[in-house]
Amino acid sequence: MARRKLVILGSTGSIGRNALEVVQAYPDRFRVIGLGAGRNIPALVSQIKKHKPGAVSVQDEALARTLSTKLKKPGPRIFSGHEGLIRLASLPGADMALVGISGAVALEPILAAIDAGVDLALANKEALVMAGELIMKRAGKKRKRVKIIPVDSEHSAVFQILQGRKYEEVRRIILSASGGPFLRMPRKSLNRVSPKQALKHPTWKMGKKISVDSATLMNKALEVIEAHHLFGLGPDQIEVVIHPQSTVHALVEFHDGSLMAELSVPDMRIPIRYALAYPERLDSATSRLRLSEIRALTFEPVSRSRFPAIDLGYQALNAGGTMPCVLNAANEVAVENFLQGNLNFNRIIRVVKKTVQSHNPKKIRTIEDAQKADAWAREKVRELI
Ligand code: MG
Repeated sequence: MARRKLVILGSTGSIGRNALEVVQAYPDRFRVIGLGAGRNIPALVSQIKKHKPGAVSVQDEALARTLSTKLKKPGPRIFSGHEGLIRLASLPGADMALVGISGAVALEPILAAIDAGVDLALANKEALVMAGELIMKRAGKKRKRVKIIPVDSEHSAVFQILQGRKYEEVRRIILSASGGPFLRMPRKSLNRVSPKQALKHPTWKMGKKISVDSATLMNKALEVIEAHHLFGLGPDQIEVVIHPQSTVHALVEFHDGSLMAELSVPDMRIPIRYALAYPERLDSATSRLRLSEIRALTFEPVSRSRFPAIDLGYQALNAGGTMPCVLNAANEVAVENFLQGNLNFNRIIRVVKKTVQSHNPKKIRTIEDAQKADAWAREKVRELI
């Protein structure tokens, strides 16, 4: 089999680094032809030396110049900025783009990949929350149907369980949530939680944005919306359960009452490996789950009062149109401000809630509709803070 030619967006981030480990473990299966990074030039330079991509991108032009002085000629083509991500995602010759960047900035690169017929390994959930209908419609419409393989562990689990099944057979799906670092913390203490504490996830090692989202459970709210778009399920068919061991990633209940689960150790290389090699499964000796060492798997309902983000997610999904987009943008800005020390942990979701409540949802017909709502929400949150 020919090697799959990959573009990796967010190559120096958590998902990107894990993906490159997978690539390195299977040199006869994958070739990296594009790497998109942000500001971490030293890490990107060593990735370029190792993988020799034909094109790379960095956050801005100044960084592009710095990078070029650090590479032997002739080096890769160097793109920069948002345009750079779009160029990379639709790089000629690419078979698949792994989208490992977080946030709404991934939307246009994703659409560019789809238009270029490049399959997607999608770790970004914000773009689907923002404009899921547009993305799914466009991916399904192309003559050469573009595949979207979820990398988010819960969605990868559902996707894997549904291989060879008909989606109409599904009664509901259940996404598990670890509950994050503050699952048992007295509520009063939540006001004084520092970014450092919020970034300490009990089971997964992830980027900053998603770690804070996991602490508020906004991550799970966004995942409900993500699942709605990926699997065409209604809000009442998607449930969330707290499962602190992060071993069962998701379950699917079929109409006959049978419930199927996907289990693995919490290691992002597993869903990444699955997405990159899809539909094949690559042999791997690492990260095997030993049930006898885990001994117990526990499940409990989500406390909606402790984690108001969950209800907000369902409300936004039910309201539809631009509402999920506003929810996502408001959350992105609130999380940034929390990380910068401008906002208490408890206020993240309060600010998001206020923003959502003052929004009048409209239909999303074009990307511009989504981008307008996104910009409105960002401005609104800045006002509130
Ligand atoms: Mg997830």
